[in-house]
Amino acid sequence: MTARIIDGKAHAAALRGRVATAVAAFRAVTGRAPGLAVVLVGEDAASSVYVRSKNRATGEAGMRGFEHRLPADTSEADLLALIDRLNADPAVDGILVQLPLPAQIDADAVITRIDPDKDVDGFHPVNVGRLASGLAGFVPCTPLGCLMLLKGVALSLSGLDAVVVGRSAIVGKPMAQLLLAESCTVTIAHSRTRDLPGRVRQADVVVAAVGVPGLVKGDWIKPGATVIDVGINRIVRADGSSSLVGDVDFASAVQVAGAITPVPGGVGPMTIACLMRNAYVSACRREGAAIDPRVDAPEDGGA
Ligand code: NAD
Repeated sequence: MTARIIDGKAHAAALRGRVATAVAAFRAVTGRAPGLAVVLVGEDAASSVYVRSKNRATGEAGMRGFEHRLPADTSEADLLALIDRLNADPAVDGILVQLPLPAQIDADAVITRIDPDKDVDGFHPVNVGRLASGLAGFVPCTPLGCLMLLKGVALSLSGLDAVVVGRSAIVGKPMAQLLLAESCTVTIAHSRTRDLPGRVRQADVVVAAVGVPGLVKGDWIKPGATVIDVGINRIVRADGSSSLVGDVDFASAVQVAGAITPVPGGVGPMTIACLMRNAYVSACRREGAAIDPRVDAPEDGGA
């Protein structure tokens, strides 16, 4: 038996389609498009690619994109002043500052300056607290996408044992909160965890967000478990060719798991789709408009 492959590309395309439909209805009711501002400081090549894809997705969803590209030597004060302008701009529903930021800028100062009700990345401490408290806020896009993929496999996660490998603020910790809210019994594992293979073997749901290529092996996986691989690691071979691999050793894990995300084509495409979803939700909240429930809970179950 080999695992069912969870098609993140198809799930993401379906989510983006549902967001576009909901945005069209929002525009008809309010007479304006949701607006998403993306701020990029410096010339980091990977960040530039992400920002371009986010802008393309914003346009495809029928939303307005406001792109701000600032030079690498921008001061923290100038960036904070831009955030203040975006916070005050009624046409802007969501603000995203692409990380990492250059060394002269304190990322925490920038994140905490964003209006929590426009913080579509969900990184502001107020949104971290809302997630922990079970209040409506914004959930970071990558773990939100992982949860949607998990719900496409099993509608209820209640009572399942889940192990999240990785405790970062942008993936591991919010992922654990989301799984707890779904009534999973959650273990957060990290670089100091003892007997990581033994912990992972207990889990019905494994989420790997580590940044170590192929760390999680097939013989760590409980037969039939669902495995979500967040890792995006570029491997460069001796001949100079390169490819992307996840944090899970896919070839061995696919033999044991019940369902598994591939890399690429698993979690990755869901992140931008969830950003579009968060921007739409923000616009609805700010206008007092109803959020179309089919955006998150499609009648066809997902992809
Ligand atoms: P991070 O470096 O901030 O955190 C990594 C975590 O893994 C840490 O908590 C650390 O304790 C843990 N860890 C490190 N080595 C370990 C080991 N040997 N055993 C157990 N735990 C270990 O990384 P991050 O930002 O959470 O990203 C993790 C991975 O996910 C990276 O590959 C990143 O590129 C990828 N990522 C993908 C997306 C996406 O859209 N798909 C988004 C964000 C991050």
